[in-house]
Amino acid sequence: MTIQVLPRVLVDQIAAGEVVERPASVVKELVDNAVDAGSVRIEVELAEGGTRLVRVTDDGSGVPADELALAVAPHATSKIGAIEDLESIGSLGFRGEALASIASVSRFRMVSRVEGSIEGAEIAVEGGGVSGPRPAASPQGTQVEVRDLFFNVPARARFLKTVRTEASRCIDVCQQMGLSFPEIGWRVVHDGREVLEAAPGSDRMERWAVLFGAGLAEGAVQLFAEADGISLEALLGAPAAARGDTRRLLCFVNGRPVRDPGLIAAVRGAYRDFLPPGRSPVACVFLGVDPARVDVNVHPRKAEVRFRGDTGVVGFVRARLTERLRSERPVGQSRPLMEPSSALSFGSGTAEAAPAGFAAQLPGLDVPPSPRPAPMASGAAFMQVQGCYLVREWGDGMEVIDQHALAERIAYEDLKRQVQDRTVEAQRLLVPEVVEIEPADAALLEGAEEGLRAAGLEVEPFGGGTVRLRSLPALLGQTDAQQLLGHVVEALRAEQDPDPVHLLEEVLHRRACRSSVRAGDRLVPEEVEALLRRAEEVPVEATCPHGRPTRVRLTARDLERAFLRS
Ligand code: ADP
Ligand code: MG
Repeated sequence: MTIQVLPRVLVDQIAAGEVVERPASVVKELVDNAVDAGSVRIEVELAEGGTRLVRVTDDGSGVPADELALAVAPHATSKIGAIEDLESIGSLGFRGEALASIASVSRFRMVSRVEGSIEGAEIAVEGGGVSGPRPAASPQGTQVEVRDLFFNVPARARFLKTVRTEASRCIDVCQQMGLSFPEIGWRVVHDGREVLEAAPGSDRMERWAVLFGAGLAEGAVQLFAEADGISLEALLGAPAAARGDTRRLLCFVNGRPVRDPGLIAAVRGAYRDFLPPGRSPVACVFLGVDPARVDVNVHPRKAEVRFRGDTGVVGFVRARLTERLRSERPVGQSRPLMEPSSALSFGSGTAEAAPAGFAAQLPGLDVPPSPRPAPMASGAAFMQVQGCYLVREWGDGMEVIDQHALAERIAYEDLKRQVQDRTVEAQRLLVPEVVEIEPADAALLEGAEEGLRAAGLEVEPFGGGTVRLRSLPALLGQTDAQQLLGHVVEALRAEQDPDPVHLLEEVLHRRACRSSVRAGDRLVPEEVEALLRRAEEVPVEATCPHGRPTRVRLTARDLERAFLRS
């Protein structure tokens, strides 16, 4: 082939590859434009997950008829004009390539009217062919319609997932933008059904509840802080709302949703004392920073930012969040795990009111290092209650053990030690299991192959969205390969740059609760004794790996108080 300059449509289609990955990217770009236009209300209509139609209607500034052709031309923007402008971007858009890219891979139509003009105008683009602008009736504002995304790029269309997945990604974008701009009214409709609706001007916490569900915001606290030209607002979900992934940990910089590993780590760090390992808080952080201090020109989809120089932004966020979360716990009221008045509800007059706020949801918190259980005399008496709790004498009092929680903790510690010592015994599968997996997840697994092998997991790409599991840690025994790999992927997603040992800890953490003794399994006395003896050997046993206490202890003094003897 000889060298030739590519036709403009092809150039746009190639550029579109960077900007438009799926319908959700279209939604994002169109909504960004509507926000930049100063809209008060924005409506998003979707059909078939946005693959058939994405239509965004706003009541913003509009585009003059004689600029419509420019709006859809590549590298045409009203938002910056010189290189210096890149140093300080106050708008969401600035690259001037979204509309051109989208129009090159869809059937595109834009209608707009500016204030003071009697008539609107419309322009249409299909497969690179522009028609218009021509006069058209339009309310003030802009409506952009994108139909049949990727109709002329079949290779791209094949990467699209189910309607449901694409729809949920589009709605995700709307939720995030709706949360970022509470002063704007939002309405989102999918296949004729209204999926989101929020009136303009509501308070951020209220907006959160409206868009993401009241359950998520329940027990959450709000934070406002300002220092050194940074303004910080945060919505901090209750620990009980925490989840296994970081999907509900949202960060915004100057209104822009970003996935910034530094910010995410700061939020998780602030929550460290409140959550068992591997759980991620439900929280939103909104930062307002002088645009000159952030570089938003890092990523074609503008999903990343870089703070210029070491501005201390991330440290500031972590410090303020930590402070706010700590303050939720009433001072001097931290509650020992073994406190009978709260751990068990003995109705004695000495019972203190349970502390309010986060501490109330954290029975295992602030536990002083628990005294080691006294070695059990062989044949010591215990009683099994409800097939779930073990009761026995302890010190000068008694203890009640949750056998499931304890077994979980032991299994977890065993597996963890093997991983740390690199003594994991791998069990080769006679017939490798072929597991279907999302292509993005397959790539994640491939990148972590080394570390996984060290942990007894041999995973190999098998092509076409499948991987082959060749071996797994013997300790896991019979296991559902699909589920196990699911946990691995989840852990890989949660950790930005996973250390192999840390990664496996995360997996085991997720895994332990499924492999060990279930509540309700009746144990024979020998099994109970074995369990209790093992409990003396593992390093951490006051809580199960998910943060629930494994035991509640009552001293003679507690009993006396409960029976009003003292
Ligand atoms: P960018 O947003 O990076 O400038 P776009 O391709 O998204 O690039 O849009 C090009 C231009 O079209 C914008 O700079 C803006 O002037 C105009 N425009 C696009 N959408 C709208 C809208 N909804 N309301 C007003 N103007 C718009
Ligand atoms: Mg734009």
